[in-house]
Amino acid sequence: MKIKSAALEFILGVSKKFHPHEFGGMLRGRGDLIEEVLIIPATTYGDGFVSTRLDMVPIDRSVIGSFHSHPSRDFRPSDADIAFFGRTGSVHLIVKSPFKNLDDVAAYDGGGKRIDLEVV
Ligand SMILES: [Zn+2]
Repeated sequence: MKIKSAALEFILGVSKKFHPHEFGGMLRGRGDLIEEVLIIPATTYGDGFVSTRLDMVPIDRSVIGSFHSHPSRDFRPSDADIAFFGRTGSVHLIVKSPFKNLDDVAAYDGGGKRIDLEVV
């Protein structure tokens, strides 16, 4: 999987800004390239995040997955994360504190399996 550097910078920046709160959005792109980030306005972030955002997302074919931040230094997906991944798209990013660079980002497929991510 590949991600445009501007999209990655945005994800890291917005996640850092909202820290220690969780933040997230959807990923847009084509094929194996994540091109841009879609933020859903008025979404409640925090504990109910994963379950509440889904029905607010305008799902079209350009939406290929999701991203969200973990306030901790652990980017392993929770059970709720994996359940969500399976319903929405084929690539999912989790970013962890301190939100510095690609080392703080993990990519997963719809089954919660870690996949490679390259910045282009
Ligand atoms: Zn999570």
